[in-house]
Amino acid sequence: MSGPSTRRRAAATLAPPPSEPAAPAPPPAEVPARPKVPERRPYVLDLFPLESARDTRLSRFYDRLREGRLSTTRCRKDGLVWPPRTACPTCHTEELEWVDLPDRGRLYAFSAVLAGAPVGMEHDVPFPVGLVDLDGVPLRLYGRIEGAPWTALRVGQEVRVEPFDVDEGRVFYRFRVVD
Ligand SMILES: [Zn+2]
Repeated sequence: MSGPSTRRRAAATLAPPPSEPAAPAPPPAEVPARPKVPERRPYVLDLFPLESARDTRLSRFYDRLREGRLSTTRCRKDGLVWPPRTACPTCHTEELEWVDLPDRGRLYAFSAVLAGAPVGMEHDVPFPVGLVDLDGVPLRLYGRIEGAPWTALRVGQEVRVEPFDVDEGRVFYRFRVVD
């Protein structure tokens, strides 16, 4: 770079008058290109796990969910484990069996997301979430509740398990109010 602005900067360096503002820095030789906006959300903002056998040893949970079956693992000695695991948290055996869970339950408690929804759910606000006691097993599961506004829900209400599709061939579960 040359010309009047260079001379002005040099003069300012040698004898800076107290009242004169510093000369602006020269622009960089090359402006780096902006990074491309990724087509997918960063994984850290993705609420749903990777589900294939390549990604998780618990892929059978999702395979079964695709067939409409909610399931978990059971240790022969210590009983049901939720969520499904690859090893029993009590005796640490990896010899767990897969078992289907009931597809009905009752609302133990509920609340509603009125603001601050997670990424991807902003347009669903307000939506209910709740804890569901599955019929006949000692498991209380958390999930979204569909089929009624949160103002119409009541504790003890019957709900059913509802698998649903999410991005990229994945699946997850929620609960739907039984009419
Ligand atoms: Zn065990």
